[in-house]
Amino acid sequence: MAFDYDDNNIFARILRGEIPNDTVAENLHALAFRDIAPKAPSHVLVIPKGRYVSFDDFAANASAEEIAGFMRLCAEVARKEGVSLEGGNGFRAITNAGPDGVQEVPHFHLHIMGGRMMGPMLS
Ligand code: 5GP
Repeated sequence: MAFDYDDNNIFARILRGEIPNDTVAENLHALAFRDIAPKAPSHVLVIPKGRYVSFDDFAANASAEEIAGFMRLCAEVARKEGVSLEGGNGFRAITNAGPDGVQEVPHFHLHIMGGRMMGPMLS
């Protein structure tokens, strides 16, 4: 199956509390924590608490409540990090999916990066 989920991926282990994380925000459906190797002054990963491999798995199979909870947590992170357009200078939100997207961890996550001019997208 295309969206087979590996329960031993690193973010599943973070969700189970087996690996520590630097939590920025959390709600019923999602968790936000700092990337271990930040590519910007603020680099936060937002993950759903459900078992979703990738963006397309999440978008196709998560409930409306899970999707709303996830998106609202992303907005909360941007506000908390001072990069939201309400008072901040903006941010980049990206997700990598599958081999061509160079996705390293097979649990859907959004990178929220800000605190500097992010530069051109392609590399
Ligand atoms: P991907 O390439 O899958 O979009 O990004 C995975 C991200 O997870 C990378 O930016 C990497 O630095 C981060 N990462 C990998 N392992 C850990 C970990 O154990 N803890 C945290 N906080 N981030 C991790």
